[in-house]
Amino acid sequence: MNNGGFIMKRSIVLGIVVTLSLGAVIAQDRSKIIEVEKLEDNLFVLRGEGGGGNTAVFVTTDGVVVVDTKNPGWGQPILTQINELTSNPITTLINTHSHGDHVSGNVAFPRTVDFVAHEVTKANMDAMRPYTGRTEPPVNVFEDTNGHGLPTRTFTDRMSIGNGSDQIDLYYFGRAHTGGDAWVVFPSLRTLHAGDAFLGKRVPFLDAENGGSGVAIADTLQKAHDTIRNIDTIITGHSTQATWADLNEWAAFNREFLEMVRAGRLAGRTVDEIANSWTMPTKYAGYDSPNPAGVKRNIQVIVDELEG
Ligand SMILES: [Zn+2]
Repeated sequence: MNNGGFIMKRSIVLGIVVTLSLGAVIAQDRSKIIEVEKLEDNLFVLRGEGGGGNTAVFVTTDGVVVVDTKNPGWGQPILTQINELTSNPITTLINTHSHGDHVSGNVAFPRTVDFVAHEVTKANMDAMRPYTGRTEPPVNVFEDTNGHGLPTRTFTDRMSIGNGSDQIDLYYFGRAHTGGDAWVVFPSLRTLHAGDAFLGKRVPFLDAENGGSGVAIADTLQKAHDTIRNIDTIITGHSTQATWADLNEWAAFNREFLEMVRAGRLAGRTVDEIANSWTMPTKYAGYDSPNPAGVKRNIQVIVDELEG
């Protein structure tokens, strides 16, 4: 109840601010309404219809750390919203991975901000290649900014930012959704932002063109689950929050899918045959109903890795 009232109030306030200050551009930006979910007094999840991935806002003692910035055009609405939540300056922006629906709002953030990502994600953002299964390249917002908004600080396996209750721990456990998925932990709040390495309870998107792996993803997820400690809440890439047990189950789901494909190939079956005969196992009944094209694409990704 409290959260509902909170979201409503914020939306109305944002609407008034946009109307008063932006005049002619409101027709374009009125649709970009940020919805705020308060997880803790100093941790918020920002969503928005058509905005893309979930954004986390962590208010520290002296600053603000933001995780992911949504689709093109969503950077300013995010900044406006943060300004309503706190007067602390934004110090750090972390991208969980390189996809355009998680990084494009970066360009609206000031140059004083540290732009942090895994080293493979920086390389992916430098290139902005098409995703697996798509022919056209994603919109590369960084071409118009001379590279402003690209990562300025990278990590390989692990990195911590800040200390005490402000500390953030970044981990990398290997290939999954892409080749550079960062696991962003807020230890004092027992909360983690998993990005699209855990996009929700559904069939994953394996972007092999950007380093994703259907063979490695289960191991990567299991390693994350077994290594990181003391987490109650997972902010997913595109869904509602998940639990630590959900991550364990999601790792098992991905392992069973891999073994299903492996067994199918050993039995001499084609990608189409494997895809056409697969249905969501009943024990994952709570998962989103799968998109057949996405299932087939994932099987092809796995077969290419196993036999390529
Ligand atoms: Zn993604």
